[in-house]
Amino acid sequence: MPDFNKRSDWEAQLARDLARLQQRELKRLLEALGEPPSLDNLHPDYWNEFSTSARAELIPTLENIFLDSAEGMLKTTSIGVDWALVNEQAARWADQYSYDLVRGITDNTRAALQQKVSSYFRNGLTQQDLRNSLQNLYGPVRAEIIAVTEVTRAASQGELSIVKEIEKNGIRMIAVWNTNNDDFVCRICGPRNQKKQGEGWTSPPPAHPRCRCFLSHEFAT
Ligand SMILES: [Zn+2]
Repeated sequence: MPDFNKRSDWEAQLARDLARLQQRELKRLLEALGEPPSLDNLHPDYWNEFSTSARAELIPTLENIFLDSAEGMLKTTSIGVDWALVNEQAARWADQYSYDLVRGITDNTRAALQQKVSSYFRNGLTQQDLRNSLQNLYGPVRAEIIAVTEVTRAASQGELSIVKEIEKNGIRMIAVWNTNNDDFVCRICGPRNQKKQGEGWTSPPPAHPRCRCFLSHEFAT
C-alpha cells in the first residue's frame, strides 16, 4: 500500500502525547531530585511509576496507529479478514510493545540524567543550569524523533497483521521495503528501496530512529 496518508497527523499526535508526558515527568522529577538535586533522593518506585504512567499515555495512540495502518492495507485488497482478530492483535501488540518502548526511554533517560546531575556537582552549575539541561532531555526534539520512529513501527505491525490474516487463506504475500524517497533517506534505507524481504533486509521498518520507511505487499506467484 502507499504510505498511509495520516502519517503526519499520527506523528503529531504521538509527539503531543510524549510532550505531555515529558512535561509532567520533568515537574515530578525536579521535585523528587530535591535541593540540592541528587539521584539518591528519588523514591525506589520512581521509575516504575514513570513506566506505568508512560504506558497509559502511549498505548491508545500506538493501538490506533496500528489499526489505521491495518485498515489502509485492507482497502488495497479484495480479500476480507476477521476485523475482530486484527483488533485483538492491535491491543496485544500495543500492550506488549509499550513495555519495550518505555523501558528504552527510561534507560536512556536515567543514563542522561546521571551525567547531567554529576556534571552539575563537578562543575558547580546552578540549579537553573540543571533545569535548562533537563528541559532539553525532556523537550520536543526527543519527542519528535521517538514519535516518527514509533509511528513507522506501529504502521508496519498493523500492515503485517492484515497479511497474517490474509495468509490464513493459503495465500502467501511478499513484503517490499519502501523508502519515502525524500531528502531524509539514509544510507541504511536507501539501498533497501523496492527490495523484497530477504534481499538485504529482514526485520520490518523502522531500521533506525526517525525512519519513515514503510512496507507494501505483493501476492507471491
Ligand atoms: Zn528508513
